[in-house]
Amino acid sequence: MDKKEILKTFSADSDRYYKVKLFEEQGYERKSCSRCGRFYWSIDSNRNNCPQHSDDTYSFIGNPPTQKRFDYTQAWKEVESFFVKNGHTSVNRYPVVCRWRDDLYFTIASIVDFQRVMGSQVVFEFPANPLVVPQTCLRFKDLENVGVTGKHFSSFCMIGQHCIPNSEGYWKDQCVDLDFRLLTEQFGIKKEEVVFVEDVWEGGGSFGSSLEFFVKGVELGNAVFTEFQGELGKHSELEQKVIDMGAGLERFAWITMGTPTAYDCCFGPVTNQLIQKVGIDADSNLLTKYYTTIAKNIENYDDIFVARKHAIEQAGLTEQQVDRIITPLEGIYLIADHVRTLIFAISDGALPSNVGGGYNLRMILRRIIGTMDRLNLKFDMDEIIDTQIDYLKKTYPELEETREDVKKIISIESDRYENSKSRMQKIVGRIKDPSVDDLIRLYESDGVTPDYLKETNVISEIPSEFYSKLSELHQSAKKKEQVNLPLEGLPETELLYYGDDPKEFDAKVLKSFEKYVVLDRTSFYARGGGQEPDHGKIAGFEVVDVNKHGSIVVHETSGGIPKEGETVSCVVDSKRREGITKHHTSTHILNSSSRTVLGSWVWQHSAFKEVDHARLDITHHSALTDDEVRKIEELANAKVKENIPVTIENFDRGAAEQKYGFRIYQGGVVPVKSVRIVSIEDFDVEACGGTHTKTTKEVELIKISRTKRIQDGVVRLEFVAGDAAREYVKQHEADLETASADQLAKEARDKLRDIRKAEDRLKIPMLLKEISQTLIGTTRLRDIEIITTESRKFCWTKSDRYDEYFHINFGEKLVKANSEAVYCGIFEEAGTVRAIIHAGEDASKRNKAGDIAKAISKVLGGAGGGNPRFAQGGGPDKSKKDEAINKVKSMVFE
Ligand SMILES: [Zn+2]
Ligand SMILES: [Zn+2]
Repeated sequence: MDKKEILKTFSADSDRYYKVKLFEEQGYERKSCSRCGRFYWSIDSNRNNCPQHSDDTYSFIGNPPTQKRFDYTQAWKEVESFFVKNGHTSVNRYPVVCRWRDDLYFTIASIVDFQRVMGSQVVFEFPANPLVVPQTCLRFKDLENVGVTGKHFSSFCMIGQHCIPNSEGYWKDQCVDLDFRLLTEQFGIKKEEVVFVEDVWEGGGSFGSSLEFFVKGVELGNAVFTEFQGELGKHSELEQKVIDMGAGLERFAWITMGTPTAYDCCFGPVTNQLIQKVGIDADSNLLTKYYTTIAKNIENYDDIFVARKHAIEQAGLTEQQVDRIITPLEGIYLIADHVRTLIFAISDGALPSNVGGGYNLRMILRRIIGTMDRLNLKFDMDEIIDTQIDYLKKTYPELEETREDVKKIISIESDRYENSKSRMQKIVGRIKDPSVDDLIRLYESDGVTPDYLKETNVISEIPSEFYSKLSELHQSAKKKEQVNLPLEGLPETELLYYGDDPKEFDAKVLKSFEKYVVLDRTSFYARGGGQEPDHGKIAGFEVVDVNKHGSIVVHETSGGIPKEGETVSCVVDSKRREGITKHHTSTHILNSSSRTVLGSWVWQHSAFKEVDHARLDITHHSALTDDEVRKIEELANAKVKENIPVTIENFDRGAAEQKYGFRIYQGGVVPVKSVRIVSIEDFDVEACGGTHTKTTKEVELIKISRTKRIQDGVVRLEFVAGDAAREYVKQHEADLETASADQLAKEARDKLRDIRKAEDRLKIPMLLKEISQTLIGTTRLRDIEIITTESRKFCWTKSDRYDEYFHINFGEKLVKANSEAVYCGIFEEAGTVRAIIHAGEDASKRNKAGDIAKAISKVLGGAGGGNPRFAQGGGPDKSKKDEAINKVKSMVFE
């Protein structure tokens, strides 16, 4: 559909489509721009042009039109309080990884939160009406502009004001009235400054009018009124009209702050800290002039580098000023922006990789590193992440939970990039004048980023189309194909496996053709969610496959088909079903075990469950170590032993999302309104249509047989459960026995040590008291030997009941309470003798602990040392422990 045509039609009847009550009340006049002809509404009688063609465009830079100043997080608080005060529910942001839509990797607009695709239709599901949401959106199309134009971001907060015009909601008049009052009352912008421009929106078969609102030439928001469907002229009204007002929070902050760029006021203290570190000293008038020009003119140029050059000329910047001020600022802005995007994406479970949406994340991380290298910026990535999260958590407290995970993933991915550099260097050596397609190929097949090529002077600039082309290539997931069968007119099949689940039942044959049978009801599980179908018999014919076509179950038989209209007896192979079910439930258990052991980034990527084996693919950055596999398996089997009930409840999809979050979509998008939530208490909660055991114990045992990194960012766990696991164990018994004997011995040792430590901790005060009270002479308390004279005390032990922990803690307390005492603890560890020496304040004046340690170590055939109060030493000669003690004795009492 042609947007221009729709706009022409709507603008021709502006009273009907655009004129809202507010315009009448406030005396807004409708005008046409003398330069572009677009229609706009304004109170200011002197205004002759639309906001984009006015002289005052971007004049707020250096001269904000408001009395109040709000930075990024404050600006949201203002917006939120205004809408809540006016009857809206404030909804938490949805994940930036768009798990509820098959066609999007990332959330690109706030309205996407509430869109659910059913078949070919998009329906809206609102958790409240009306509502407002601070939705973080990711867009990777204009990456070359980020950091340069002062206003482009790879992630931004879209203030979403959404409403369905029913008894709870409102329509155009009230929407525009609210937006006007938000600007004028809450933000203190003068009424004359607020200009509305007529526009239209169309997409996905529906369309409607929209009013964009501008202040000082900046579009702050766009109120879209989606109300029609079909072709213009033959269109009809939508049953479900929707208001989709989206506004950029970054711009709200920027207009009240009037900083040279939006980057200066939207990353909290981050930008300024980085500027301080680099030591950029810039005249604010000069920056105001430069960034006003670039912001104002960017739309007039196809190429950002031409726009930049123009702004440099206009602001009268010298080459030196560009090198010392503009270029490093651009680097800092880019880094601040890209790190923020990574924080949101990784927190919501996305990993940098070479597939799907992970491409964009890897790309921006490599741009960060490339920029730091090129400009020789020595920033601490963890510090930037910390500062960002400290700032952002005022609006997004959930980021706190994944702070360390974000750092970990970025650090792993950065190391990987550093390691690949030498390989890239070789490839780069062979390249001359690459085209955009060459660049894309280089990135996709070899991971060579254009930033790296820029850094190594192979190209002078990154072509503008590079990022948009790459982002198009990786924007949407692939569509599934389905065989078409003649099933028209057949009713939905009644699914008995969601009810009583009888393994023998009678059913009526509604249709049979070729090798296919459709029944009115069935207990045969149809292939789905990675679960293989049931087998068995229908009227004596073998069932070899079962598939769902829409809501109709089609059985495939071998050897013949029953007649249509017949009532047939059916038998499900219950042994096979049992095996599959155990493997299926185990998938849930293993998925959550993996996430608990590895980290929050673990999601189910895909799964496959057969009668005697299964596999679970999870998102994870590296191949699994043996230790990780062992821990996952141990946790999974601990959950099996706990005998936790597996409960199934049906929920309205929206209610389930609000209650459990988007973690429920482990198996992908659920295309139905009512979702089946399968929970293993709060250990694992997923939306799932498969068959499950009633408790975890029924799974009996889970054994991971093999793991493998199958693609960048995805690890496969092959495993067996139930009978198959027992069979597996039998086969591996010999190996396992030795392994588990070692394991048991180690566990017993560890346990004993822990018990001892705990006992010793309790004993220390009592022992100290007793030792302090010992009289002159020689005595022994709990394996500790004590020699006391008038002015000195020497305590030692070589008992194997005491370990390093005891000697360090006990010795320290002992000499603190007895300043004339020397303590010496001797113990064996890893095949050598070790000694720990403490000397009290008075004792250390005669014998320094360090000297004692040296002397002991010499006897034992090793080395030692320390300070006058505390020292350590030791050596390999176990036969000389007594000699070593005697040596100390002679030193103390000489
Ligand atoms: Zn204009
Ligand atoms: Zn399941």
